[in-house]
Amino acid sequence: MDDQNLDGLHLTQNLPLSQDSFRELWESVVTPSISTIPAATTENQEWRPDGQMDMLLLPYQVLSDGFDENLFELPPESEARDGVTPPASTVPVTTDYPGEYSFQLRFQKSGTAKSVTSTFSELLNKLYCQLAKTTPVEVLVSKEPPQGAVLRATAVYKKTEHVADVVRRCPHHQNEDTAEHRSHLIRVEGNQRAQYFEDLHTKRQSVTVPYERPQLGSEMTTILLSFMCNSSCMGGMNRRPILAILTLESPDGLVLGRRCFEVRVCACPGRDRKTEEENNMKTQNGTKQTKKRKSTPAPDTTSVKKSKSASSAEEEDKEVFVLHIRGRERYEMLKKIHDGLELLDKENKTGPKSKVSVKSEPPLPSSGKRLLHRGERSDSE
Ligand SMILES: [Zn+2]
Repeated sequence: MDDQNLDGLHLTQNLPLSQDSFRELWESVVTPSISTIPAATTENQEWRPDGQMDMLLLPYQVLSDGFDENLFELPPESEARDGVTPPASTVPVTTDYPGEYSFQLRFQKSGTAKSVTSTFSELLNKLYCQLAKTTPVEVLVSKEPPQGAVLRATAVYKKTEHVADVVRRCPHHQNEDTAEHRSHLIRVEGNQRAQYFEDLHTKRQSVTVPYERPQLGSEMTTILLSFMCNSSCMGGMNRRPILAILTLESPDGLVLGRRCFEVRVCACPGRDRKTEEENNMKTQNGTKQTKKRKSTPAPDTTSVKKSKSASSAEEEDKEVFVLHIRGRERYEMLKKIHDGLELLDKENKTGPKSKVSVKSEPPLPSSGKRLLHRGERSDSE
């Protein structure tokens, strides 16, 4: 009896105490922390506490929210037959369309000599030319277009991921030019009636010249095009391939015919054309030697096994890019991220053992004080 009473006494004395402390713990720790965790984020949670990742994710959210589903929907050809000027499509059409006038282009046969400043590859449907050098383009039609017809030249990026960007000259070349149309990449030379346009909505630039009927005894008219930036120009084309689009248009903007070709503006048109044609022939013949060599990783005896993709990614990582950032605050933020990635790279190279590990030891009390454990009473109380 005495023992049971003692036990009961012991329980009633201790239970309320432990419940109190648990409720305390629940209220002070668990509830607040759950309510502050943002919903719908399972990945990147290690980035969350300081809020840095939110800022990085924002541009992508804006992009996906603001994406126009109709961006790549092109107006049907028939829409342009209403007689009114058709609105410029967001993305210019790049398919050949000879139309009822059998609109055709022809380039001079310049070959691939070192000295050549402009040369056209029939094989690749691609023009190679030097910066600001004239390329004569012959225009052929099967019957005379309506009075007041014009030829229009415009440029568009070839790859889908760049097609939304407007092709313009790089800031460097624009700044050293004083012409009113200095931002235009494509120029028509030797024609006082050339007109330069920038579409109000799409901001795409183009140049037009009135269509002139061939001189007596000639079957075609010639226009002189020049390209005012190199394909490699930083802040301009930036190594992104472009297509030139030439259209024959009625006076009210109706497209009567269209021809497209790729353009590479470079220092050595002859050499580049030769190289690219040879590479094309090789792949056509099935001897994909260059590709094979790339995908076979060189034997690496010094380090741990690497996957194929990792070794090729490493090769790509050696390329250096320059990023221009507006605003110091943004620059500092991106620099922090970059520094962090650099540090990670360093750690990975020196091996996983040397990785900085976060220690979870409790903070030491400042000198002279003793850690106070639960249940203990401080002497000063
Ligand atoms: Zn340039």
